[in-house]
Amino acid sequence: MKTIGMIGGMSWESSLEYYRIINETVKARLGGLHSAKSLLFSFDFEEIETLQMAGDWVKATELMVQAARQLERGGADFIIICTNTMHKMAEDVQAAISIPLLHIADATATAIQAQNLHTIGLLGTNFTMEEEFYKGRLEQKFGLEVIVPERPERQIVHDIIYDELCLGITKADSRARYRQIMADLTAAGAEGIILGCTEIGLLVNQEDSPVPLFDTTVIHAETAVTFALEA
Ligand code: GLU
Repeated sequence: MKTIGMIGGMSWESSLEYYRIINETVKARLGGLHSAKSLLFSFDFEEIETLQMAGDWVKATELMVQAARQLERGGADFIIICTNTMHKMAEDVQAAISIPLLHIADATATAIQAQNLHTIGLLGTNFTMEEEFYKGRLEQKFGLEVIVPERPERQIVHDIIYDELCLGITKADSRARYRQIMADLTAAGAEGIILGCTEIGLLVNQEDSPVPLFDTTVIHAETAVTFALEA
């Protein structure tokens, strides 16, 4: 079994989910007392969020590269970045290490293609919903048609992530807003919806959506286990 290197703490609320899902999946696949071999580098998210808001992606990239190198030195066989947003610098991180990085958008797109879906809604932070590193990757590398909410709804989705979900807060009112936004994406043609932020699964589940949900936390964690258990 390979050792999974996790760059997490963004937020720790979702890293906890990764840790749980990865270990439960290893147990389900191998049985007995089996659990995952893993290393976790967990950031102080306040430091990262401050850099994001300031647009200091150079410094943020430096910190991410340092974390990845520490995991590699510590014996990780491959890396996962346990947040969609911080895949903004995934290519720089990959270039700085000699072990593979399993990209969250690639794992998710593969799961979508396996269900033969083409037009897909995307929820996440504004960075994820608007920028090339994520939305563009799904479109260009995988040929998906990606629909995101309108500007005011994007801001609602983004604010609920930072002001509530990353603080461990789930509100019925916010769930209702996400439900409405997912219904709107479906009306606009989405055949499925990507929960493209690793905390959204803490707020909504399949019952809240008229179309299949693709929870990036679950997909990424399970993909990491498959890779860890491959010969
Ligand atoms: N965990 C979230 C994501 O998947 C947002 C936190 C962050 O900015 O990294 O994008």
